[in-house]
Amino acid sequence: MKKIDTFRDKGLRAQMVERLKSRDIRNMSVLNAINEIPRHFFLDSAFLEFAYKDNAFPIGCDQTISNPYTVAFQSELLSPSPKDKILEIGTGSGYQAAILCKIGCKVYSIERFKDLYLKAKKNLSDLKCNANLFYGDGYLGLPNHAPFDKIIVTAGASEVPFALKEQLIIGGILVIPVGFEDQKMTVILKTGKDNYEVLSQYNDFKFVPLLREKK
Ligand code: SAH
Repeated sequence: MKKIDTFRDKGLRAQMVERLKSRDIRNMSVLNAINEIPRHFFLDSAFLEFAYKDNAFPIGCDQTISNPYTVAFQSELLSPSPKDKILEIGTGSGYQAAILCKIGCKVYSIERFKDLYLKAKKNLSDLKCNANLFYGDGYLGLPNHAPFDKIIVTAGASEVPFALKEQLIIGGILVIPVGFEDQKMTVILKTGKDNYEVLSQYNDFKFVPLLREKK
């Protein structure tokens, strides 16, 4: 099925961006990318008409695309710059990866469900986003491609995986929701070879869990 981005879609998306601004999302490159990437391309057909509502939606395999505010908030915490080399854990639909690609980042992303990995590959290639997608266990990161300037985890982690901290450059940051039922969005700065500092934490996020092993 050919994907079409109508004037109506563009209009609904612009309204979504205004709502993000009214909730204090300020980073213009993040807002511009959200304005340009058709979120409805990343949803199953049953949810197309809701694509520009401020909700998370099922994407198959019992997983969800994060709500737009969460995508914007996590992206803003990363303060992505063009050419940043960024690792994402939890590709899901590929939407977050598309936002970072649009900003000009060099994106690597890992997904543990084969079906989602394949769907995301298609979604991203339809938009000519050349993110590097991997089917595997994000707990392990991507040692062969490390180090990364920044790492973003889009599933709730019960603890911060050590491999991810290790695979950051010194001065790099990790944005990760930590906790079981609810998560605290946590920003960690790598200050030295074995030194890390929690820069900030924000309450009340709800993600699907970060789980070990591929499916
Ligand atoms: N960023 C996604 C939303 C992802 S939901 C988007 O933009 O659509 C979280 C995703 O993390 C799910 O697809 C889930 O399967 C994946 N996931 C959970 N644990 C993982 C792990 N250990 N490694 C890789 N992916 C994982």
